Amino acid sequence: MITFPCQCGNKLFFGSTHCVRCQNRVRMCPLCRQITSAGKTDGPWACGNPSCAVELRACKNYLKHSFCNRGVVQAGNELCNYCQLNRVLPDLTVTGNLKKWRKLERAKHRVLYDLEGLGFPLHGQNPELYFEFKSGATSHAHGCVSVDLAEADSVHREKIRVKFREPHRTLVGHLRHELGHYYWEVVVASNCLEDFRKAFGDERQPRYSVAKDAYYASDTNEHWQQEFVSEYATMHPWEDFAETFGTFLDIVALLNTTQHFGWSQFDPHDFKSMLTAYQRVGVAANEMNRDMGMLDLVPEVFTPPVARKLEFIDRLRRG
Ligand SMILES: [Zn+2]
Ligand SMILES: [Zn+2]
Ligand SMILES: [Zn+2]
Ligand SMILES: [Zn+2]
Repeated sequence: MITFPCQCGNKLFFGSTHCVRCQNRVRMCPLCRQITSAGKTDGPWACGNPSCAVELRACKNYLKHSFCNRGVVQAGNELCNYCQLNRVLPDLTVTGNLKKWRKLERAKHRVLYDLEGLGFPLHGQNPELYFEFKSGATSHAHGCVSVDLAEADSVHREKIRVKFREPHRTLVGHLRHELGHYYWEVVVASNCLEDFRKAFGDERQPRYSVAKDAYYASDTNEHWQQEFVSEYATMHPWEDFAETFGTFLDIVALLNTTQHFGWSQFDPHDFKSMLTAYQRVGVAANEMNRDMGMLDLVPEVFTPPVARKLEFIDRLRRG
């Protein structure tokens, strides 16, 4: 993620709610996508970007729960346009749930910001996108992205990651994957199903439930890396699409960051150039992580079949 300059010269981060140097409140403007100063009180303010200067108010989730730094534009809305997408929230009277919800929201805001930047619609689609944060399965169905509250517990998440031999298991990763299912439904199914089938296979044969049972009943397919971005992607074309969509968002997020800090150069209109830059950054990042005894940051192998599927996703955002 990029950083933003405060009016005092300090650096502000994506989740910043205050500037630690000048003590001003700082907020993300949903129109110009910049974080700027919102003054010393919780009252309305004008976006500090002079070419925008839209009138903004604090999101209710900031006023009530001290998180969410997004401003609200439309009169009559108490919540920002990201927080409005929540339908089911955890029971906040249960100790620990507020902390878990905050972690989920931080991940959600980050993923939605990148999706908006790519031009994927968050509102006004059929079905409408919404989120449920509760105990239960992490899934997507008809616009509802549901994330298991337990996934916000890092000990629980690491146990599952090891059990399922996953290179990463993160909240941003879950959200990117489930949103992949959502955009399959609203973008792919109605616009480019035949092209999807050429790239990922026919989602009707075998049926999803049959493919899922077969996946969990079988041993590891050791050759999955030749054609798939992850082992899980081998289950069914829908899971392959969601895994590839998630990886595409990983690529975009990381390249936006490295470009911002002057660590990589690529042509954002040419996916091949983006993938080459990502692989170059990935080798260096993996070695840095290994230096620190951590897991590889970029575990994927980008074979020609995997690159072709990523290019399919890249074409979706270009319309
Ligand atoms: Zn400041
Ligand atoms: Zn603005
Ligand atoms: Zn909000
Ligand atoms: Zn899935």
